Amino acid sequence: MSDYEKLARDLGIPHTRDLQALCDRMNELCPGPPIELVEVEYSPDRPCATVHRQASGRCVVEYVKHPDEQVRLHNVLHELAHIAFGDLDSSQAEMEALLSRFPDLDPDVVLAVFRRDQGSSGAFSTDAEYRAEMFASYADAMYLEAEESLSVRARTIRRVVDIATLNRRLSF
Ligand SMILES: [Zn+2]
Repeated sequence: MSDYEKLARDLGIPHTRDLQALCDRMNELCPGPPIELVEVEYSPDRPCATVHRQASGRCVVEYVKHPDEQVRLHNVLHELAHIAFGDLDSSQAEMEALLSRFPDLDPDVVLAVFRRDQGSSGAFSTDAEYRAEMFASYADAMYLEAEESLSVRARTIRRVVDIATLNRRLSF
């Protein structure tokens, strides 16, 4: 079973569509401080979604308000994939190293200033971005597949993602 299949199954995809339920499930899979879900207004200079760890250790997933539920799911699942695949773990150590240099300042303010590239591809390696985005697309296909009327199109998307996943695994 691929990492994507396993994560999708563990999160209850495609049966679970509720964003908070997905975050709660993620918290059970990766025990730690609660994942906080925050909906934010669209702004052209803001990414579709971000995930960052607060100085307190809490994970905050911010996602832009969007009328399409599948888009919201995609964006949040992309961020949850970063948590699942451990992309935040190395930044945790880096974060602590950074904070130790500014002991007199509010840690969250320091982090906000230094995280100016949050959510863009600068925040994680391209590899991590690719993997998180692939998972979100994989989940899209599973949701679509679960909707009978879209099954043909969804199966095609799923197959393309599966092939892309396989190619990627073969390239290692
Ligand atoms: Zn990302």
